[in-house]
Amino acid sequence: MPPKIAAGNWKMHGDGASLSELDALIAAHTAPVARIVICPPATLIHRMAERASGSAIAIGGQTCHAASQGAHTGDIAAAMLTDAGATHVILGHSERRADHAETDAEVRAQAEAALAAGLTVIVCVGETGAERDADVTLAVVETQLSGSIPDGVTAATLVIAYEPVWAIGTGRVPTTEQIAEVHGAIRAHLTTRFGEAGREMAILYGGSVKPGNAAEIFAVRDVNGALVGGASLKAADFAGIIAAL
Ligand code: 13P
Repeated sequence: MPPKIAAGNWKMHGDGASLSELDALIAAHTAPVARIVICPPATLIHRMAERASGSAIAIGGQTCHAASQGAHTGDIAAAMLTDAGATHVILGHSERRADHAETDAEVRAQAEAALAAGLTVIVCVGETGAERDADVTLAVVETQLSGSIPDGVTAATLVIAYEPVWAIGTGRVPTTEQIAEVHGAIRAHLTTRFGEAGREMAILYGGSVKPGNAAEIFAVRDVNGALVGGASLKAADFAGIIAAL
């Protein structure tokens, strides 16, 4: 069975005052049944990793550069994330693909750098609303998977997050049938490419997951957890989602 994972993507939210939410999360999860990861803005990674040290909560970045160092103003290298205490990194989030024109090839190169630095990568895929309306969702996701996932990954180092762009921050959630269809296609891709290991790789759903809809989503076949945006910012909300896993 793949691991159960609840990952929180804080996006560009949070400052020193938000560390109390991490403290509350740590206190509430001394014997967790799932892997819990918080991916704060880069400015908080080191402080959070120090606070979460020895707890059940892992800390992750939200992106990394493919190069190990160099003249890349504003970017962050994978080894800098591990140096700051991160163990995971989100790559290819649709907001990075849209805001920074990241391509599948770039996401793959980032993933290779992250794996070389010892990070577990959370690779995001998902269709836009226009692509769903045009009935090309599975083709879009297949292209993203083929282009973004490097060779040599294992169930311990690769997590996939299916995040329909139209469901992110909108309160709109696909039907359980729609989620099952895409997660099934992702599982098929992983097993075709990685054999038995593909059965053990976690596939997360992301997009407007809340405490109130988490149980229904987690009951869908091949859903092994969630990548949560807004509802991960408050420990009480995120704990409600984790409890549904
Ligand atoms: P929301 O949970 O706010 O819809 O965001 C989902 C997301 O983009 C997580 O990466």
